Amino acid sequence: MVCHAGPGLPHADVIHRARTPSLQVGLQFGPVGCNSGRKPLECKVVRILILQFVPDVRGRPVPRFEPQLGTLLSLLVQREHELSLLGLAGFDVAAVKAALARGLPQLIYADISPVCVDVARRTLQYVQEHEFIPVVAGGGYPTIDPAACLSLPGVQAVAVGEPDASLVTYLERIKDPAVGQVVLGVWARDERGLDRPELPQLVEDLDSLPFPERDLFGYGEYVRRTGEIEIASARGCPQKCAYCMNDRLAAMYADRGTWVRRRCAENVLEEIDLLRQKYEGVRIVRFLDHAFALDPAWLGEFLDAYAARCSLPFRCHLRANAADEQTVGRLAEAGCKLVDIELISASDFIRNEIFEMELSGEQIIATFAWLGAAGIRTRVIIYLGAPYESEASLEDTRSLLRELKPDTVDIRPYYPWPGVRATEICRENGWLHARGEEQLHRDLPGIDMPACRPEKITAFIKRLRQEFPSTLSEPWWRRWSSASRTAIGQLFHKRR
Ligand code: SF4
Repeated sequence: MVCHAGPGLPHADVIHRARTPSLQVGLQFGPVGCNSGRKPLECKVVRILILQFVPDVRGRPVPRFEPQLGTLLSLLVQREHELSLLGLAGFDVAAVKAALARGLPQLIYADISPVCVDVARRTLQYVQEHEFIPVVAGGGYPTIDPAACLSLPGVQAVAVGEPDASLVTYLERIKDPAVGQVVLGVWARDERGLDRPELPQLVEDLDSLPFPERDLFGYGEYVRRTGEIEIASARGCPQKCAYCMNDRLAAMYADRGTWVRRRCAENVLEEIDLLRQKYEGVRIVRFLDHAFALDPAWLGEFLDAYAARCSLPFRCHLRANAADEQTVGRLAEAGCKLVDIELISASDFIRNEIFEMELSGEQIIATFAWLGAAGIRTRVIIYLGAPYESEASLEDTRSLLRELKPDTVDIRPYYPWPGVRATEICRENGWLHARGEEQLHRDLPGIDMPACRPEKITAFIKRLRQEFPSTLSEPWWRRWSSASRTAIGQLFHKRR
């Protein structure tokens, strides 16, 4: 049975079924705790505490703005639910107590990163021991392992993948005991058993979604501190790096719509305009998507519109295996001043055999030459301590960085992200570090290989962080602003 997502929700259809099989025939639930036709104002308002479990690494703020979570919050705000948000990178009883007392939540939505499971477990255990509040989980961890997530204390349901409208529906109906609801993409467990409904169709028209909520993340302070606004222009990615969850998600949604989806230029520019009006001190636009420059037709159209309408410089991701001179030139003309490039390793074996990046040394060299000629600065991301790392490959990476001379280098100890292909290689070899996610939280290598021990990797990382300009602790634009910390024109002067 299909009913429309209802007032205030995007066009994604949501299927509701009664749990009891006999009720599935001829019974169609109205949307979101109200009958079809009723306005959002008439729906029951729910007080929801959002707990965002994210790692506190490399000085990134917690809570941390995340576009898909922001979109979910925006959908809930539109329907006038009362939201509060607490970001947690570690177990913090005082913060949880204060958030519970302040928000008096009727429901907890836990957004759990796959590398914050221990923190989530301890926190939810504490909540269950002191309050009786139903918990629904979403985000990366429930997506890769919904059954395990359902075993966390108090978790009644988990949202898999990109639930958007269906999750709003579920959250609004969870307080209604009369409804044994089953909503696409939301696994739920109760005394009657476990429901594992299939995923809903993807939202293909991203322009139909509301702009993400930001105030709950303290975004005004973020803009004041960094000068940047972060924009997601797409969902999904066409590449298949083995250290990333993307292709696993794409496979999950294989028959449920187009995986790589992009917003139209007008929609993105409208959001930028609104953010500039709302937040003081916006100096840079940061496009978050790895896929930003991977569709030449969309990119060309977008850059034309951006250059015509937005005077702000911007930064974006560039995949060096899909760059060419023309694309780099177009980016520069439209105002791109910085690109983030994942080089990962100088080792061709690690990049291409282990991580399946399809990125040659020649492509890296050529991309840096084009960027240098176009006056676009570079921030490169490096993982050290990847599977099959060796003393020789560590030195090769150092030599490559010396040769390329990136403007800044983000050097990270490799951590095997749960649920991705590269992690399976580590698991099969018995290399997963015994301390698990604690290693990531302590900025230490996540695997332990006899041929290249974590201590050696850590020492090498320390050395490289001293040798190359890093992004640690300071916003990137401030590092380059020795001439002036206020004049944007000087921040982005061209490389001589
Ligand atoms: S390009 Fe980025 S998002 Fe795409 S698969 Fe690779 S790491 Fe993942």
